[in-house]
Amino acid sequence: MSEELLVRKIRDGTVIDHIPAGRALDVLKILGLSGKEGSTIAIVMNVPSKKLGRKDIVKVEGKFLEPKEVDEIALIAPTATINIVKDFRVLEKRRVQVPGEIKGLLRCPNPNCVTNTKREPIETRFKLVSIAPLKLKCYYCEDIVTEEQVIQQLVRE
Ligand SMILES: [Zn+2]
Repeated sequence: MSEELLVRKIRDGTVIDHIPAGRALDVLKILGLSGKEGSTIAIVMNVPSKKLGRKDIVKVEGKFLEPKEVDEIALIAPTATINIVKDFRVLEKRRVQVPGEIKGLLRCPNPNCVTNTKREPIETRFKLVSIAPLKLKCYYCEDIVTEEQVIQQLVRE
């Protein structure tokens, strides 16, 4: 069955495809969408996918992503593709990319890290160590942030 049969096309907005199965709701959280905003949102979960086995898809009418949102989605759904739709046509399709350096988006888990000092806190800065599983290393104290911690910080807090 084609995906188009599962969810109708959107006129203008964003389709986030190839989300790892089970992460669609986390992606919505990152976008700050709860469904109460009134825009049409379609969520399809656990669709068979050649590339991923199973995948999730999120379609949001009238929403176009900010660079920060794309970076955050890349961290929790590194296989995702972002399709920008205008007048029912896909104008642009691109894969998210996990940035080699992540600035300001995450907290360092080390309470003694210079980024956690109360007086003169400085912006956090992490280096990408591995994508699957996701591992980031603090530029200042070299503490490692795991995928679980990233999801915790971006989605559950
Ligand atoms: Zn640190």
